Amino acid sequence: MGTRVVVVGGGPGGVLLTYLLARGGVEVTLLEARHDFARRFRGDTLAPGVLEYLDDLGLASDLLAEVPHTRSDAFRWHTPERTYRLVDYRGASKRFPFYALIPQARFLPWLAERATGFGATVRMGARFSDLLRDGERVSGVRYTVDGEPHEIAADLVVGSDGRSSKVRAAAGIEATELGASLDLLWAAVDQHDDDPPSSGLDLFARPGGTIALLDQGTGQWQLGWSIPAGTFAEVREAGVEPLVDALGTVLPWLVDRVRATVRSVNDLTLLPVRITTVDTWSKPGLVLIGDAAHVVSPVGGNGINLALADAAELANLVVTGADPAELERRRRPGVEKEQQGQVRIERAAAKRNAAGVTGPPTALRVLSNVPGFSRLAARRSRVPMAAPVPAIAGS
Ligand SMILES: Cc1cc2nc3c(=O)[nH]c(=O)nc-3n(C[C@H](O)[C@H](O)[C@H](O)COP(=O)(O)OP(=O)(O)OC[C@H]3O[C@@H](n4cnc5c(N)ncnc54)[C@H](O)[C@@H]3O)c2cc1C
Repeated sequence: MGTRVVVVGGGPGGVLLTYLLARGGVEVTLLEARHDFARRFRGDTLAPGVLEYLDDLGLASDLLAEVPHTRSDAFRWHTPERTYRLVDYRGASKRFPFYALIPQARFLPWLAERATGFGATVRMGARFSDLLRDGERVSGVRYTVDGEPHEIAADLVVGSDGRSSKVRAAAGIEATELGASLDLLWAAVDQHDDDPPSSGLDLFARPGGTIALLDQGTGQWQLGWSIPAGTFAEVREAGVEPLVDALGTVLPWLVDRVRATVRSVNDLTLLPVRITTVDTWSKPGLVLIGDAAHVVSPVGGNGINLALADAAELANLVVTGADPAELERRRRPGVEKEQQGQVRIERAAAKRNAAGVTGPPTALRVLSNVPGFSRLAARRSRVPMAAPVPAIAGS
């Protein structure tokens, strides 16, 4: 009998892994707690290297043709004085010189449907409750559907159930905070035909922080206010007006729409930013991927891409019969490097915000004037994706 894999959690990591395993001929079942893939304000930014990977699988052109999205060729930071084009994705890939901004709510069902086309079982509304064990080895999972208990045996259980992973907790794997300095408050408002052009990934310096303006092709702008980590209670106490006033200093054309939509701070969605590591990504019979193994900050927009890169690497290991625990050796150093960079960037940003200094750090302002710098920055920030092994690539 071949390897039977149970994947717990149908976020980007879990759904891509399910697709790849099914495509590689592995018997795989995905358990997703929710009844659908609807979700808002998640990491929706597919990096150029990820698009190349999907292209190698023959998926990218259908995805980009069938799923509404926008394309961003630059990350821009606007100050009252000028706009800095800090990262220019035109330098990141010849085939896909852009980030594709595709809401997870559209990307995940599209990919899950293709996974079932290769024979994967996708169980929606299936909530993981505990691990089954055979001695020291994880041998399957217990889960519930509408409160009814079920069990499923597996040679490998994959915990891809996100930042608050129950699989991780059941395995007794500890998560440690590395120290995020910022939290985010999200809102969405309708777009109008005569709105100013955007790159899709724009950041505006405002007094005391930044406001992100994102466009994922939903007909709405996604707006994100950064606030110092752990200050949400104070922000709620102060009410929504200071946030709207701050918006008025940088995006005055959106103020009326935000006032009409965001009547109180409760109408905003809080993302407590986390940067988290775990002692180990695996135990016998079990592997963690994506946010379950490493939560990253939205700085760089790579949470989704790291989860997808884990899935690509793990699928190769499973399909070739290699040790799944090898995933950590291959992926952890790159993830930790990204996390350490984020801790530094967030700390520096929090200090500058507290001192009332807004906009990019001086070094970045200077470097962004150096020809070729922003394209180099895009190449250096690439998330490496393992090339699919022949059984997956179909070649
Ligand atoms: C609320 C939130 C907002 C975010 N906002 C941003 C952002 O603005 N920008 C950014 O770059 N990144 C953001 N991220 C991070 C980004 O979305 C993640 O890095 C990325 O989605 C990680 O993918 P994943 O597959 O590892 O996990 P997730 O996308 O978290 O998926 C986990 C899946 O597991 C399922 N699940 C959970 N518990 C169980 C269970 N017991 N049984 C079965 N299934 C279960 C969940 O329903 C979910 O579908 C956000 C994350 C969260 C949680």
